[in-house]
Amino acid sequence: MIIEHLELRNWRNAVSVSVDFPPGLTLVTGQNAQGKTNLLEAVFFLATGRSHRTSHPEELVSFAKDQALLRAVIQRKSGTFTLSAQFAGGRVTRLRDGKAFRRGQDPLGDFSAILFAPEDLLVLKGAPAERRRILDLDLGQAAPTYRSVHARYAQVLRQRNALLRTYEQPPREMLATWDAAWAQAAVALTDLRARLVADAAPRLTRRTGEIAGGPAADLVYEPSLEGKTVAEALEQLAARAQDELRRRQSLVGPHRDDLRIEIDGRDLRLYGSQGEQRTALVAFKLAAVEMLSERPGGAPVLLLDDVLSELDQGRRRNLLLAAMGAQTIVTTTEPQLAGMVPDTTFAVRGGEYERTW
Ligand code: ATP
Ligand code: MG
Repeated sequence: MIIEHLELRNWRNAVSVSVDFPPGLTLVTGQNAQGKTNLLEAVFFLATGRSHRTSHPEELVSFAKDQALLRAVIQRKSGTFTLSAQFAGGRVTRLRDGKAFRRGQDPLGDFSAILFAPEDLLVLKGAPAERRRILDLDLGQAAPTYRSVHARYAQVLRQRNALLRTYEQPPREMLATWDAAWAQAAVALTDLRARLVADAAPRLTRRTGEIAGGPAADLVYEPSLEGKTVAEALEQLAARAQDELRRRQSLVGPHRDDLRIEIDGRDLRLYGSQGEQRTALVAFKLAAVEMLSERPGGAPVLLLDDVLSELDQGRRRNLLLAAMGAQTIVTTTEPQLAGMVPDTTFAVRGGEYERTW
């Protein structure tokens, strides 16, 4: 899929912008604080219905304005359509060909995007919740059922936690009902995540090799559930029953999963250099792009925000070669990038985008 055209009205520092993208590589250059990330954020919002920087839509509307609009023309094998998002009064309305839809109702894969943001690097060093987020957002897009399986688990977990919070000693039958529902949902999500990670791991290994050469990287799923069956999940739960009653929350299950990247068998979190971490994370994103590309919607749009800094010349070149195949938008503060042959270049200044190539 390809984003052919994008319009921004009162989107952050962009007052009125209209740009056309080629199918290949677009380079967006500009100094700090000019609007490079804002552009990628807009594309990502159209694809996913969320921003990677905020969960408050009002922050996306230009200062002192009360409405904003995003509009894009998306081209797929099956035809062309428009996607838009209107922002007013802290609310967002998303439309496909002028018809409103809610999050969760958009036919998955209509328009998908994988974003590398510098903030993602914190993911590698940060709390497990951050790593679950990239698992959900990036790999999750590759499985048509992911969203519903994930939502089901979140719902059961919420209710089971509410029960544990409400009663010091929850009624036995009530708890048993929720335990059973929990176990079903937990096993389903764990199983789906395990399959996605198993699919992604060899791709990440290959991509890291392409970009960096050197020692092999691996992606490892660390599920909270030890077994694979509902019965085993319930056993594990029973073993923590006392702890759960004391702490009044669910202590086992996919909401406690983690993800690990290893280089040469060593945990990247502990031993990775800056460049190694960046490389591994990009390789993870490229693995997600590959997986999505094999779905009926075709390759997603790849958004690379300031990915090139901290990488040596060789890695930069290899990374851009590896990204070929998906429409890619790359931002950078360095206008002269060795080894880079974009199809189009935009120079950004104060929220205005001028095509310079
Ligand atoms: P860097 O290279 O530092 O990452 P950038 O070009 O990616 O810079 P952006 O994150 O796109 O910069 O932000 C550009 C400008 O938009 C910033 O100066 C920021 O203050 C401004 N901005 C952010 N939100 C709003 C808003 N709601 N209204 C107006 N301007 C905003
Ligand atoms: Mg930026």
